[in-house]
Amino acid sequence: MKTPFVSLEQAKKIIEQYPTPFHLYDEKGIRENARKVNRAFSWNKGFKEFFAVKATPTPGILQILKEEGCGADCSSFTELQIAQAVGFSCEEIMFSSNMTPAEDFVLANDLGAIINFDDFTHIAYFEKLAKIPETVCCRYNPGGLFQVSNDIMDNPGDAKYGMTKEQMKEGFRILKEKGAKHFGIHSFLASSTSSNTYYPMLAKILFELAVELKKELDIHIAFINLSGGVGVPYRPEETACDIMAIGEGVRQVYEEILEPEGMGDVAIYTEMGRFMLAPYGSMLATAIHEKHIYKEYIGLDACAANLMRPAMYGAYHHMTVLGKEEQACDHTYDVVGGLCENNDKFAIDRQLPEIKIGDIIYIHDTGAHGHSMGYNYNGKLRSAELLLKEDGEIALLRRAETPEDYFATFDFTGLFKK
Ligand SMILES: *Cc1c(COP(=O)(O)O)cnc(C)c1O
Repeated sequence: MKTPFVSLEQAKKIIEQYPTPFHLYDEKGIRENARKVNRAFSWNKGFKEFFAVKATPTPGILQILKEEGCGADCSSFTELQIAQAVGFSCEEIMFSSNMTPAEDFVLANDLGAIINFDDFTHIAYFEKLAKIPETVCCRYNPGGLFQVSNDIMDNPGDAKYGMTKEQMKEGFRILKEKGAKHFGIHSFLASSTSSNTYYPMLAKILFELAVELKKELDIHIAFINLSGGVGVPYRPEETACDIMAIGEGVRQVYEEILEPEGMGDVAIYTEMGRFMLAPYGSMLATAIHEKHIYKEYIGLDACAANLMRPAMYGAYHHMTVLGKEEQACDHTYDVVGGLCENNDKFAIDRQLPEIKIGDIIYIHDTGAHGHSMGYNYNGKLRSAELLLKEDGEIALLRRAETPEDYFATFDFTGLFKK
């Protein structure tokens, strides 16, 4: 059972001022979860969660996370600019990019962000642009398959990210020669994981590598960045990851591998996006059409331009018809958007209560990789983002796009003369 964080009455009141579709975030949920993450890793003195900005690049959201002690993980020029505007500075910014353009490296360096090199060749590329900083990080890819128990979780050998072990060694050796003094190791091996053992297993691999690199190169390993990948239960029958158990699992591996080597000062970093935000955002849309052909369709005023995950990955997003929470789910619908693209379906063969035109559909868990993945195909405009504040008030974090926004890259000044 999944429960919306607003009732039909609350939603109706919001809609009087802000028409659907829109994304709505829950400040209370975001703050409570961020505090829990910090508690789970409070055993580690240097712990910091660098929120993956790409998940929700919305200043009002980043501000809340900053207040809760998080940093920002950026991977592009504009994400760096957002982080800067929100007031993140220097080592509160992790720059974990790949195939990085020169100007992005220059801005990251100017901001004093921690540079995370995705590739061995990026070191020489960076050196042409700026001096190697004292603190640097390299991204590791162990290759092969990454397994937890008997389930293959992901396939690092097929992923474009990171360096081989030999490249890590050679990279750190060169960086040390060029003046780097403090080193970080980063890796992202599996996405959307549901097991509490993912971070501990990844930590073990990275801690063992850290010990090896420290011994072989006589360098100071300052931090291990476990990156993102902790999942959330998108389906009602799934169980949530237990962040306290995850933190405890990492602590055990830390005590087992790093502490005996005199490496008890290594900071643990994370770069979670989904776990920090997905459950604390939802998309509200209105049913504007019903269609009866070979299947039963409900058409929403939202489309994949507002929430792309179902179209892109076949991702499941739970739905609640507001006000009908207690009704039997005895109707089968495809709930769709209006793109001229048949994958624009938020739900396929979904059991729901009978939907009437005008019903408000609450789509769960859109807080991360939701609005941010949106696009403008078919000339569709991206929706507003609202915040349900802790005091119950609504704040507009980002207005909905207008045709002027869509046409801003043309010179259509004549068309919009009033
Ligand atoms: C996408 C990404 C993350 C966040 O991933 P989640 O699945 O949202 O936890 C973190 N770090 C990097 C480098 C990423 O690309």
